[in-house]
Amino acid sequence: MANNGNATIYGAGMSGLIAAIDLARNGYEVAVHEREKGFGGDSIYNPSTHTTSIDVARTSEYIGIDVSPAFHPLKYCPFYLHDTMLEPPLDVMDMYTVERGNRPTSLDTLLYNEAKKLGVRFEFDSPLRKEDLADLPENTIIACGLTPSAYEMLDIPYLRWYGWISRGEIGFSNVSWIWIDESISEYGYLSSCNNYYFNLLFSIRHIDRAALEKYQEFMVRREGVEHDEWQYVSGAVPIARPDNPRLFHNGLIMCGTISGAMDPFFWFGILGALVTGKTAAMAVYDRTRALEDFERFNRGFKQGFVFKNSIWYRIRPHVGLMERQLRLFGPERLAKMAGMGMQRGSKFPFNLPGFSQLGNY
Ligand SMILES: Cc1cc2nc3c(=O)[nH]c(=O)nc-3n(C[C@H](O)[C@H](O)[C@H](O)COP(=O)(O)OP(=O)(O)OC[C@H]3O[C@@H](n4cnc5c(N)ncnc54)[C@H](O)[C@@H]3O)c2cc1C
Repeated sequence: MANNGNATIYGAGMSGLIAAIDLARNGYEVAVHEREKGFGGDSIYNPSTHTTSIDVARTSEYIGIDVSPAFHPLKYCPFYLHDTMLEPPLDVMDMYTVERGNRPTSLDTLLYNEAKKLGVRFEFDSPLRKEDLADLPENTIIACGLTPSAYEMLDIPYLRWYGWISRGEIGFSNVSWIWIDESISEYGYLSSCNNYYFNLLFSIRHIDRAALEKYQEFMVRREGVEHDEWQYVSGAVPIARPDNPRLFHNGLIMCGTISGAMDPFFWFGILGALVTGKTAAMAVYDRTRALEDFERFNRGFKQGFVFKNSIWYRIRPHVGLMERQLRLFGPERLAKMAGMGMQRGSKFPFNLPGFSQLGNY
């Protein structure tokens, strides 16, 4: 194939790898710079397991990579308000689990192997620095995920979050849960696949040990699960302003979560990272189509952002009240109604950028 020029990508996470594969297939010499010492994404979080709604076949077709070996149908995902459980209608929600990191079963391993086969050049231990910004070559793609320093150096609005994480091997797979409590602004959740789990209790405010202990007690009481080690971490999400999503920023092409392609309600980021890996590559060789696709994927962002900030965060502190309402209405009845609504095509405020029942395209 003819050499169509060079492309430079910062960030060898999932979206950076997808952009690299697409550009290599389209005849570009691709160099990927990654601040970590190897592939597998950010070592603060990975290995990890994630849960998302996704239409795997349509997503694979759009990005031109069969990612189905890395996605596993979710079997069980209770949603708790304190101890009151609602079982969402998983059969109509396209819910899957996926592993990140450098283990053989991860999505990153599948993508990295494909990129290597296509001759993509990797430079590890090679971070983007503020002093590099003035001299970045044409066709530079930024795929730096949730790293606060990247948002700061590029002047991208972001929200800082704090979380307790735990991860490791476990004797079950394709099980998740979500726990809502007033001690945090977001939620506690576990995701598992390939006999590995990732657990995160997170909030936009600092979380004290008492909140972690409350979550740990809930986990043992309701799910019979306990972990030995927890670590306190912090990160960035592009959920600071209703206009966060951007394909171009100061002459650079934005890719993955840092482009703002994230569901502003639950902060699901996997689907947006997958599809914007492709749109970022397309921005190099078909700018018009890339912009159209990027805008279509992210058209629900503003609505979801406004809903979360103007309505949800006002209701959010009253978990006891919501729990009582749920009990009065009946969790089974609500799950059934939600399932019927989704089958009829109802859209929910957590609009995922990409192809899924909860998605936008
Ligand atoms: C703890 C946690 C749990 C999550 N759970 C879920 C979930 O269950 N479901 C869901 O849908 N989403 C979830 N998300 C969001 C989702 O995982 C991310 O949005 C998505 O993986 C980001 O993909 P990406 O390609 O944009 O970035 P990443 O895959 O994170 O890759 C970014 C890469 O850039 C590198 N990098 C950073 N700074 C630099 C620099 N200066 N120079 C060079 N390289 C750099 C990093 O080391 C990393 O390798 C979660 C996120 C986190 C952090």
